[in-house]
Amino acid sequence: MIIKPKVRGFICTNAHPVGCDAAVAEQIDYVKQQGDYGQGPKNVLVIGCSTGYGLASRITAAFGYGAKTLGVCFEKAPTERKTATAGWYNTAAFHKYAEKEELFAQTLNGDAFSHEMKKDVIERIKSEMGKIDLVIYSLASPRRTDPNSGITYKSTLKPVGEAYTTKTYDTDKDKVHDVTLEAATDEEILNTIKVMGGEDWEMWIDALADAGVLAEGCKTTAYTYIGKELTWPIYGQATIGKAKEDLDRAASSINGKHSDLLLDAHVSSLKALVTQASSAIPVMPLYISLMYQVMKDEGTHEGCIEQINGLFTQCLYGNQPTLDEANRFRMDSKETNEQTQAKIKALWDDVTQENFHDISDYEGYHHEFLRLFGFDMKQVDYEQDVDPQLSW
Ligand code: NAD
Repeated sequence: MIIKPKVRGFICTNAHPVGCDAAVAEQIDYVKQQGDYGQGPKNVLVIGCSTGYGLASRITAAFGYGAKTLGVCFEKAPTERKTATAGWYNTAAFHKYAEKEELFAQTLNGDAFSHEMKKDVIERIKSEMGKIDLVIYSLASPRRTDPNSGITYKSTLKPVGEAYTTKTYDTDKDKVHDVTLEAATDEEILNTIKVMGGEDWEMWIDALADAGVLAEGCKTTAYTYIGKELTWPIYGQATIGKAKEDLDRAASSINGKHSDLLLDAHVSSLKALVTQASSAIPVMPLYISLMYQVMKDEGTHEGCIEQINGLFTQCLYGNQPTLDEANRFRMDSKETNEQTQAKIKALWDDVTQENFHDISDYEGYHHEFLRLFGFDMKQVDYEQDVDPQLSW
């Protein structure tokens, strides 16, 4: 099959197995170039392991610290006529490279929100691994079925309080224009908290602790984005921000409930990056294109793997983690500091349809977007016939 990108709005509906493999290999190479990681995790569970920040976490744990990794993801296998999802191919590549280095790696594909998946993971840990000493929670999902009630909740990306009008960039139509986002209803806010809040993270840790598969002193972290004034109305102080606030509640609750295990739960605040999750958020493609321009000019640009490498070496396993007043690990200061934000704000105020491509790094944004699906990788020949039937 010759595979070319099929982009529909903010998503690419296919993926390239060789390109995904190359993108995973680049992240592994980055980790290996960092030298000795020292003491760190040995048995790691990554919930949301196949793309974005979760994949980078898995790669860092395995190829940096030599840890065994068990991953959970929700990806589609290839069929006769359709490629698999990118996360499927990323996982196949991860397994291939892990096997080469005799690193233990197993992945369960299915709904992480369900009781069944939690049960399967616990069985797998008991039969194949020692006790878990790090749990990474990196799910991004538009919906969640509560396993107790069977009710499916959908998340919404809307401001809270009042409608908000702002600039946005339509990647499909190549247009910078104003968009008005209506305020969320109370129900929409609660539903978003149900999907992206801390309830499921807590359920995971409770289930793992009750089953006796967490090591004493086990660490766990869930990822958040806090951002600054430019993104607050659509993220930090919007429905998704309300859900992310619930992660702070869950972290305290986890620490309180499992103090006998000396469990150490933190929310980690990471910078904005192009991932499948962030490209679906209105305004983010514009913000990230301008932010990339500023941070590349400053020489502070980082991708998922650089952020996660810093999180592990400075915060999770470092002596001097940057913690904020809510006990969160902060890895986002290169983006959110006043000077950088002022430069992004100046571009934001100036940006128009006419100058967008000149003053932003949309080229960089678009390259990274395609790369998420294994496209636009210079080392890959996209005219080659490839076999999409790949597994792990
Ligand atoms: P992503 O879309 O790249 O990854 C999501 C992962 O969740 C994938 O592995 C997917 O398979 C898995 N997943 C989704 N639904 C699932 C389900 N029901 N069962 C099992 N697995 C499921 O997202 P990302 O951007 O890496 O986001 C991960 C976390 O990082 C999120 O909490 C997000 O809010 C946070 N974060 C993202 C950014 C950003 O800019 N992208 C910034 C800071 C924090």
